[in-house]
Amino acid sequence: MAFPERLLHILAGPRRSSHCRYCGRPIEWATTAPRGKVVPLNPNPFVLRYERNAGGVKFLVIGADNLHFVTCTKRPAKPTRMRIFGGRPRA
Ligand SMILES: [Zn+2]
Repeated sequence: MAFPERLLHILAGPRRSSHCRYCGRPIEWATTAPRGKVVPLNPNPFVLRYERNAGGVKFLVIGADNLHFVTCTKRPAKPTRMRIFGGRPRA
């Protein structure tokens, strides 16, 4: 895996299902914290833990290897934009 040590915080709650435009596999769109980027995940990501910020907003903490573009076999190669990997969610 490309970045097994990286973690993503994503907002808890329903995620919109879709299909990858490159390989056709099912994906789920999730919103990252704290930057609010929308990223494609492989369905049913393995949740490492749950967190809540000071405002009571619930996040899932998952490994970055759940990102579909890490595992997609058909996606054109592009530099991975590391900026989506933020730190801890802001309070
Ligand atoms: Zn794909």
